[in-house]
Amino acid sequence: MKRVLILGGGESGVGSAVLAQKLGYKVLVSDAGILKEERQKELEARGIPYEMGGHVQALEFGASRVIKSPGISPKAAIVKELEAKGGKMIGEMEFAAPHTSAKLIGITGSNGKTTTTSLVYHILKQAGLNVGLGGNIGKSFARQVAEEQHDVYVLELSSFQLDDMFSVRLDVAVLTNITPDHLDRYNYELKNYMGSKMRITQNQTEADYFIYCADDPITQDALNLVEWKAQALPFSLEKKLHHGAWAENQEIIWKINEETNHMYRTELALRGKHNEYNSMAAGLVAKIFDIRQENLRESLSHFEGIEHRLEPVATVKGVDYINDSKATNVNSTWYALETMDKPVVWIVGGVDKGNDYEPLIPLVKDKVKAIVCLGEDVLKIHEAFRGCVETIINTGSMQEAVTMSSHFSSRGDVVLLSPCCASFDLFQNYEDRGRQFKFHVRNL
Ligand code: ADP
Repeated sequence: MKRVLILGGGESGVGSAVLAQKLGYKVLVSDAGILKEERQKELEARGIPYEMGGHVQALEFGASRVIKSPGISPKAAIVKELEAKGGKMIGEMEFAAPHTSAKLIGITGSNGKTTTTSLVYHILKQAGLNVGLGGNIGKSFARQVAEEQHDVYVLELSSFQLDDMFSVRLDVAVLTNITPDHLDRYNYELKNYMGSKMRITQNQTEADYFIYCADDPITQDALNLVEWKAQALPFSLEKKLHHGAWAENQEIIWKINEETNHMYRTELALRGKHNEYNSMAAGLVAKIFDIRQENLRESLSHFEGIEHRLEPVATVKGVDYINDSKATNVNSTWYALETMDKPVVWIVGGVDKGNDYEPLIPLVKDKVKAIVCLGEDVLKIHEAFRGCVETIINTGSMQEAVTMSSHFSSRGDVVLLSPCCASFDLFQNYEDRGRQFKFHVRNL
């Protein structure tokens, strides 16, 4: 019996195991850490063997195919050892895609993946399509291929997932933007990271579509980095295009194959320029799937937003509190500040991944009345914004940050948590950071 080894027992790994078992493979799940109890129970109930706390059995298993979780670095010792034994590393998408005939939409980018993926899913579902949501988000794609029958999948793809995809052909590929991120995994070479993002177009033919941001200079460079064949559908807020999506007279225009649709920018449910980009990209996908203008409009104007992304929490004593905990880099915080139309008390800080705060300075001078630093790397924040705002203070917990923010704000202001940094100093992850923020705001 053919063997498949699964490295990493998260949702992606367990979903892959479910599909592998259904396809008749002999399967082993191997994880260096401890699996969540529900996953252990599921594997036991399904009779799928697993090991935790190391890879002893994995090295003896003799699998020629190894499905690697995207979180495991290709440089990890276990990956090297398995490769030396002849194991070929692939990702969940590569494994599962050949087993469905559904249309595949893949969405990548440095920022905006989850928002755009969720928007596309929402529009297609509201229009009555039988659509699945997977990749970096929700239920594993492989699990859905094994147990559900969808006609279309919307897949959020990180660059790590793209790196483990070789033969998958996407009917529609979306690249939201490229800003320097995760460079540690790419030998600190932006070109490598750009190349990884452009893998979204690999294997596409002239019958497929590639949607990208025409205003993003790094994307423009990336377009020349590799050869790609799909039909180009650019989107822009800065220039009028002939096809794709653009803004004109306060409207968003979508134009594909001579058919034009439009909608007022003020009708979009998600606020901010970045979300206009995301809405334009999502609308293009919708038009490829022939979604009617009324449905598109209805979905884009009623979308409820996603937790931790410019999420309104509460208004306390006339001050709005906004949770943008997912903003873990300068670019996403830039868009958050850009969106604000009231004086801002800004909660920022955490683990700095090599930030250059320079691009934020004009926005901070213009909109921010006080900076509340939270977490480890606060020195750089002081250095970057000293002289731009009157008040910069340090806090050591979310409770303190929220209390101090309420102290420095007054009626008509907004308190924005948009940390620009990773969360691992004081929190388990960005979700934990956002939830703690909401908890303390609600207790004010
Ligand atoms: P991702 O899944 O790529 O991390 P999200 O949709 O979760 O992206 O958004 C992450 C952060 O980036 C949030 O703070 C959000 O407000 C911001 N953001 C969303 N879309 C964009 C965009 N197109 N450009 C820049 N920042 C964005």
